[in-house]
Amino acid sequence: MLKIEPQNLRTPGPTPIPDDIVEAMGNPMINHRGPEFDELITKVTAQLKQVFMTSNDLFILTASGTGALEASLVNTLSPGDKVVAATAGSFGDRFIDMAVAFGADITRLDFEWGEPVDPDAIRQVLRDDPEVKAVMITHNETSTGVTHPLEEIARIAKQEFDKLLLVDAVSSLGCLPLPVDAWDCDLVGTASQKGFMIPPGLAFISVSERAWEAQKTATMPRFYFDLEEAKKTLERGQTPFTPNVAAMYGLSLGLDKILDEGLEGVFGRHAAIGQHTRDRIRELGLELLVSDERYASNTVTAVKMPEGIDGRALMGRLRTEKNVVLAGGQGKLSTSIFRIGHLGHVTEDDIEEVIEALRELLPEVGFSAG
Ligand SMILES: *Cc1c(COP(=O)(O)O)cnc(C)c1O
Repeated sequence: MLKIEPQNLRTPGPTPIPDDIVEAMGNPMINHRGPEFDELITKVTAQLKQVFMTSNDLFILTASGTGALEASLVNTLSPGDKVVAATAGSFGDRFIDMAVAFGADITRLDFEWGEPVDPDAIRQVLRDDPEVKAVMITHNETSTGVTHPLEEIARIAKQEFDKLLLVDAVSSLGCLPLPVDAWDCDLVGTASQKGFMIPPGLAFISVSERAWEAQKTATMPRFYFDLEEAKKTLERGQTPFTPNVAAMYGLSLGLDKILDEGLEGVFGRHAAIGQHTRDRIRELGLELLVSDERYASNTVTAVKMPEGIDGRALMGRLRTEKNVVLAGGQGKLSTSIFRIGHLGHVTEDDIEEVIEALRELLPEVGFSAG
């Protein structure tokens, strides 16, 4: 049998899984058309709505987070629909690529990687082009460690211009405040392996009344991610296709833990650990990628790779000698940064271990602070 030793897994997804959740996922398999499954999906759907802070419809998809994002597009838009999309990183780019693949007519707003999206630029496009139907945004850009000002963007998209708002909340929901109803977000997608302390394999999406309105006329092709089917089958306590039942056992306990800690507690813990991580990184003499700390992400920190340091060698030694697994950069930042995930099941001690490992290994790979 494959045996993986426990690691300090500090990638921004997947994230570590508490032992009791691992155990919960070992429950016997059940019939997903039977009464136990009905009870399970009814319970976790209600709990997920609490975490999303929404009374909108909410669906559990057996997919990675990208599946929820695809669902948000194909259920509400038609080929040729005008959409404004702001991006400042590889996940923002991917959301756009997906919309383009399905035929959306994108007005693309690009911002420097490491900086936040400027809500005024979105306002300007909406002002100039009344034909725009929807706004797409990544709440927390995992590739740069930046949390975009979603509340303000939502105010513009919804209150000022009354557009459909599609949100990639894969690395924020359940960790950073995102009150879906209070901010009036129409479609919000996230994934199991980020903030929910369970393995990859499930995606969650909330769907507003306004989104259902758009769904009636949306003609993008869809089958596996057809949310109308998901809604119909959920009414009888089922999913259209075979769900990832084991991950849902884990989800049930993960949600109990989140709600027992309380959302304010969970958000506060992430805020404190995010701040702690940034402070300690700077103490080591390293620089953050984020340009303005008000937008620094409390789920992932991107650190500039010091000049002349071989990042792959550093990551490799952290893993083999210190059992610490960090993430490299993505896209154009692939060699110039590394990233520390601090979301989901994470404590300050986990971060201390990372800092101590860096303190020891950085000089050995040729880094001298200051
Ligand atoms: C991880 C992530 C994704 C992709 O999710 P998958 O589960 O890999 O499909 C999308 N957007 C953001 C912001 C992410 O952090």
